[in-house]
Amino acid sequence: MKAKRIKEFTNYKMDNRVYQLRRKVIDMIYEVKNEIKSLPRIDVRIGQHKCNRVLAVAGCNDNIVWVTEDAINQGEDKLRNTVYHEIVHAVTGFGHDESCPLMESKQNHVLNKQECMQALRKYIK
Ligand SMILES: [Zn+2]
Repeated sequence: MKAKRIKEFTNYKMDNRVYQLRRKVIDMIYEVKNEIKSLPRIDVRIGQHKCNRVLAVAGCNDNIVWVTEDAINQGEDKLRNTVYHEIVHAVTGFGHDESCPLMESKQNHVLNKQECMQALRKYIK
């Protein structure tokens, strides 16, 4: 069964502002979709995590991602790293790999768009 909500994360109610935030995440999912046609549809929820340091969460193998407003406000490059990371969790169920700059558990690296795509392609063909 697909979990539409998780207790650590408060989903924002959809309004114009939240719609704009969500749009930024969806645009990045489309970047991936344009490269990898087989990418499944991914649900996006925007909101707040109980723990302020957590930027995003994915339902592993569940094709759903929860992204915080803070993550979106960190700018395009950081957000892309966050979104691509969560896409890998959500689509493949893969966990973390500390030797991979995209799938490390803490975001210590910020890859550019091309590097993000290259790293993601290791997990999603
Ligand atoms: Zn992760």
